[in-house]
Amino acid sequence: MDVLIVILVVVVLAAAFVFIRAQTNAKGRWGINALRTSCPRCGTRLPMIRKPATREEALWGGWTCPQCRCQVDKYGRERGAG
Ligand SMILES: [Zn+2]
Repeated sequence: MDVLIVILVVVVLAAAFVFIRAQTNAKGRWGINALRTSCPRCGTRLPMIRKPATREEALWGGWTCPQCRCQVDKYGRERGAG
């Protein structure tokens, strides 16, 4: 019985890992964000510790540039641009 639980946990973790990696490569919303990014418009370095300005940012990550108010997603792309 214990062995079954361990196998189940390993399978679930492996599936989660594969899923997150695929999302990161595809820059999907479940992917893991880069540690540091800079603003695509003005090049300002965005802080590692972020204060979400919108609900979208709180849920999926991203920044609002303190210099130009540009909405940046967690991959450092301008939000709404694509
Ligand atoms: Zn900016």
